[in-house]
Amino acid sequence: MKEFIHAARQVLEGNRPVDERKKYQVIEFLLGLVHLVFVIYFAALHVPVMVYYNIIIVIGYMSLVAVLQKTNAYFCVCAATFGEILVHSMLATILLGWDFGFMIYTVGLVPFAFYIGYTIQNFKHHILIPATTSLIVCVCYFVVKVISEQHGALLADDYPERMISLANYVNNVLDFLLLWVVAVLFALEINFMHKSLERENRSLERIANHDPLTHLLNRHSMSSYLKNAMKAAEKKRKPFCLIMADIDDFKKVNDTYGHGFGDEVLITVANILTENVRKEDYVCRWGGEEFLILIHAGEEIALQAAGRICEDVAKSVVAQGDTKVSVTVTLGVAEYHLGDSIRRLVEKADDKLYEGKRTGKNRVVF
Ligand code: GH3
Ligand code: MG
Ligand code: MG
Repeated sequence: MKEFIHAARQVLEGNRPVDERKKYQVIEFLLGLVHLVFVIYFAALHVPVMVYYNIIIVIGYMSLVAVLQKTNAYFCVCAATFGEILVHSMLATILLGWDFGFMIYTVGLVPFAFYIGYTIQNFKHHILIPATTSLIVCVCYFVVKVISEQHGALLADDYPERMISLANYVNNVLDFLLLWVVAVLFALEINFMHKSLERENRSLERIANHDPLTHLLNRHSMSSYLKNAMKAAEKKRKPFCLIMADIDDFKKVNDTYGHGFGDEVLITVANILTENVRKEDYVCRWGGEEFLILIHAGEEIALQAAGRICEDVAKSVVAQGDTKVSVTVTLGVAEYHLGDSIRRLVEKADDKLYEGKRTGKNRVVF
C-alpha cells in the first residue's frame, strides 16, 4: 500500500509515467463491469438481443484484461474497445430509441480517439487517425439520430418511463466519467512529458556547458560568466580577478607516459583547482592544459587561491600502476579594472602566465 501511494504521488508529480499495462487493464476491467450492469438492466427490460450481446462483451473485456497481462497489443485493445463502444451505442439506440441516451458515449469517443493516437507509442502524433475516426463517429451519431427520429425504436417503444429515465441518467454520468478519465490521463501524460523534457534539457545544458574529461566549465559557458562579472563590476563596483593556469611541461608527460596518463593528470589538476576556490567562483578548461578561473574577489584573495593551487598541484602525485608522476602549474593573475574588455583581461592574465613560464615555471605571477 505504501508503495502504491508512493508510485501514485510520483505519477501525479510527473516524475513517473502512468503504467501502460495496468492503465489499460483497469480500463478494460471497469468497462467489463459496466457491461455487466447492462446485462442486468437489459434483462429487466426483457431485451434478449442486448442481454446476449452484453454477456459476450463482458467475457470479451475480461479476456482483454488477461491478454494485456501477456502482450503489449495496446493499440489493438484500444481499437477493439473503441469499436465496441460505438457498436453498442448505435445498436442500443436503434433498438430502444434515442431517449435512453446510449448515443452519448460516442461524444466521449472523440477525445478517447485523440488520447489513443497521441499516447500509444507506435501511433504517436498521427493526427490523421484520430481526426478521421472522430469524423466517422460524428457521422454515425447523426445517422442514428435521423434513423431514431424518423423510424422510432426498432423494438417495442412502450418501455416504462422510469427505466428510460434511469438509463438516460446512468449513461450521461458514465459518459462524463469517460471524458473525465481521458482528460485526467491526458493531463498526467502531458505533465510527465513536460518534466522529461525539462530533465533532458538540463542534461543537454550540462553537456553543452562542461568539458567531458574534467567536468569543468568549458570556454563557451565561461564567456557568459565573464560577461556577468564585468557587468557587476561596472554597475556595483564588485571586484573580480582572473587566474590563468597552465600545466608545466605537459607535452613531456604525454610523450613519456602516454595520452591516457596525461588525461589522468588533467583530471587531478582540475580537481585541485575546484577544491581551492569558493562555490561562487568558476573554473573552466580554457584550452588543452590551460585553465581559467574567475574569482569574485580582489587581488588579495585571488593571489591566495593561486598560491594554494600552485602548492597543492606540486604536492600531488598522479599514480597509475607503478608509475607515479608529479606535475607543476604556472599561474598568471589579473584584476579587472574599469574600462578593461574581457579579451584584454584574459590577455593580461595570459601575459603574467608566460612571464611565469619564462622565469622558471611552478609559480604565481601578478
Ligand atoms: P609549457 O610548460 O611551456 O606549458 O609546456 P607544455 O609542454 O605544457 O606545453 P605545450 O603547449 O608544448 O604542450 C601542451 C600539450 O598538452 C600538448 C598536447 O598534446 C597536450 N594536450 C592538450 N589537450 C590534451 C588532452 O585533452 N589530453 C592530453 N593527455 N593531453 C592534452
Ligand atoms: Mg603547459
Ligand atoms: Mg599551454
